[in-house]
Amino acid sequence: MFHLVLGVCLAMAADQCGQVLLPQGDSATAQGCRTQAAQVADAWLAARPELTGSAPECRANADLPALDLQQVARGVHVHFGDSHQMEETPDGRIANLGVIIGRDAVAVIDAGVSRAQAQDLYVAIRRITDLPVQHLILTHMHPDHVLGAQVLSEVGARITAHHALPQALQARAAGYLDALVGLYPAPDWIGTQVVMPDDLVDDRRQIDLGDRSLLLRAWPAAHTDSDLTVLDRRTNTLFTGDLLFRDLTPVVDGSLLGWLEWLDSDPARGAGLIVPGHGPASESWADASAPQTALLKALATATRRAIQDGLPLSQAVPAIANALQPMQNSWNSYPETVARNATAAYKELEWE
Ligand SMILES: [Zn+2]
Repeated sequence: MFHLVLGVCLAMAADQCGQVLLPQGDSATAQGCRTQAAQVADAWLAARPELTGSAPECRANADLPALDLQQVARGVHVHFGDSHQMEETPDGRIANLGVIIGRDAVAVIDAGVSRAQAQDLYVAIRRITDLPVQHLILTHMHPDHVLGAQVLSEVGARITAHHALPQALQARAAGYLDALVGLYPAPDWIGTQVVMPDDLVDDRRQIDLGDRSLLLRAWPAAHTDSDLTVLDRRTNTLFTGDLLFRDLTPVVDGSLLGWLEWLDSDPARGAGLIVPGHGPASESWADASAPQTALLKALATATRRAIQDGLPLSQAVPAIANALQPMQNSWNSYPETVARNATAAYKELEWE
C-alpha cells in the first residue's frame, strides 16, 4: 500500500513543521496515490488555515515509521507505551493501544497522544491487515489516549466512548493541546486536533467485527468519569484502559472511592488476559491489580487520617505523601503524581 504524506508548517511560525499522513490518499499503487494526491492534500489543508503545506508525496508503507505492535492473543495486537508520565518522555507516547482484527473489520482501542502517533499506529495496522478500520473505541478522555483520534476518523472509523466523555474532553481540550505543544517539538504535535465521539455508551454495547464481538462497558466514576472497558469475547482479552495501571503510578482523576469499589467488584471476571492502560499485560487479574489496589487503599487510609487530624489541605498533602513513601519505589513517575492524588483524595473524602 502507498500512503500520501505532506510536509506542513504553522502559517504563523514557518520553523514549526512536521509531516502528516492523509489516509484518504491511500492507494494500492504509487500511481493511484499520485493521481489523487493534490486534490486530497488541498481539501485537507482547506479546513486548516493555521497550516501551510508543501507538495504531497506518495510513500510505500514499508518506508514510513510505524508503531511496534505485539500480538498478545489471536487477532489481538497491542502497542505497549512507555510507562512514565508524559513530562518524562520525548513524545508522550505512554498509553497502551489495542488493535483487534475480526473477519470483516478492525477495531482500534485508544488513539494515542497526537496525530503523529496515530499516523504511526495506522501505518502499523496496514502492515498486518487491509480490512477496513471501522471502530475506534476510547477508554477515557485523557490526552495520551485520545488526541490521535482524528486520524482514525479520517480512516473511516466511527468513534465510540463513554457517555460522559464529550463533556469531559470538551472542558479540557484546549489545555491538553497547549500541554502537547509545550512539551514536545513540532513534528510530535503538528496537525493534532480534538474530535468528539460519534457513538456514546450509557451502560453496555456490543461491537461486531464479523466472527468476533467486543463488549464495551461504561463505568461509574473511578480513574476518570469517562472510563470504558473492552472485552474481546473470542479470546477473553480485557482492555481496562486506565482503570488498571501497572508500573506507572495510578492517577486519581475521577473518584478514589469509586475506583476502589470497581477494583473490589471482580471486574475482570472470566478474562484470560488483561491489558492495562499502562504497563504489561497479565493473565492474572489478582497479580495485575494487587499493587494498584494496595496503593489506592493506602491513599484513602492516609487521607482519612489527615482529615480526622484536622489538617488543612496544605498540610494534609505532605502528610499523605509521607505516609505513602514506603510504596514509592514500586512505581514510575511517583513524585509527579503523589501530591496530585493526595489533593484529589482530600477533596473527595473531606465530605464523607
Ligand atoms: Zn488516564
